[in-house]
Amino acid sequence: MKLYCPNCGEEIPKKDKFCKYCGKPLENLESAHYNEEEIIRTVENGYAVAAILTDIITTPLFKIKQKDGQPMLNEEGIPEFEADKNGVKILNKDKMIKIINDSQDSVEKYKS
Ligand SMILES: [Zn+2]
Repeated sequence: MKLYCPNCGEEIPKKDKFCKYCGKPLENLESAHYNEEEIIRTVENGYAVAAILTDIITTPLFKIKQKDGQPMLNEEGIPEFEADKNGVKILNKDKMIKIINDSQDSVEKYKS
């Protein structure tokens, strides 16, 4: 991995303590860069998070009317939502809570 002086932008050998172009100390330079392992772990975690988000996004926000385990469709073939006595759609709360809990379990696995 090439390093560049944060002060003057010149390419510098890894082990120099000072930039040979501008003289600025470079002690903290390494910590500013991820090592390869960290990058791989970050990418893997990113995929895990993406998978969890997909679960959440693809879960209908509102309860769909079901008949014999199948979603009930209206004349246009669109699923009908359950509504309360005021005609307000009912949140798919149990399902959302379950997916969020499952997601938290998945996230725990990727914490290190
Ligand atoms: Zn420099």
